[in-house]
Amino acid sequence: MDRIRSITVFCGSSDGRDKAYREAAEKLGKAMADRDIALVYGGGSRGLMGIIAETVHVAGGHVTGVLPESMNTSAVRQKSVESEIIIVPSMHERKKTMYAMGDAYIAMPGGIGTMEELCEIYTWRQLRYHSKNIGLLNTEGYWDPFIAMLDRGVHDGFISEAVRNIIIAEEDPERLIDRLGSENSPLPPKF
Ligand code: AMP
Repeated sequence: MDRIRSITVFCGSSDGRDKAYREAAEKLGKAMADRDIALVYGGGSRGLMGIIAETVHVAGGHVTGVLPESMNTSAVRQKSVESEIIIVPSMHERKKTMYAMGDAYIAMPGGIGTMEELCEIYTWRQLRYHSKNIGLLNTEGYWDPFIAMLDRGVHDGFISEAVRNIIIAEEDPERLIDRLGSENSPLPPKF
C-alpha cells in the first residue's frame, strides 16, 4: 500500500460541548503534520474545522481548503492558515474536489454536513467509485450510534457485511492514521 500523503477530513463547523472534541482535533492535526500528511478540508474557520486547520498549519503541515463561491467570505474563510485555497462553483464541486484530493478520509465528530460527506464517500466506496479507506475518529464514542445503525442495517439485511466492514473506527488519532495507512478495507461485491 502506498504511503498516505493527504487525508480529507470531514469535521464539524461547531466545537462540540466537551473539550475532548477540540483536543481530538488538535491531536489529529498534530499527528498529520508530524507524518507529513497534508490536510484537505472544507476551508472554514469555525468549529473543529478551524481548529484542525490551525493546528496543522502551526505544526508546519500543508493545508488545502476547498470552498464554494457562496462561502468565499471573510465570515467563513480561514485566514492565513491555508497553504492553498480552491474556490469552486458549487457544493457538489466542492465535495468532488475534496474527495479527489484525499488518499484517505476521516470523519471527526460533527453535524449534518459531516454526516452527509461521510455517507456520500461511504456510498461511493460501496459503488466502487474509489477504493480509499474511510475512518471515524470516535472521540467520546460519538460515532457509536452510527456504528450501531450500520450493525442494525446488516442484521436487518440492508447493509452487507463487506460494506459494514469498510469503516475503520478508532478513538486515538495516531492509531486511526496507522490503520488507514496499513489496512486494505474489503471491497464490497459488485452490483
Ligand atoms: P456540520 O458537520 O454540519 O457542522 O458541517 C460541517 C461540514 O459541512 C464540513 O466538513 C464542511 O465541508 C461543511 N460546512 C458546513 N458549515 C460550514 C461552514 N460554516 N464553513 C465551511 N464549511 C462548512
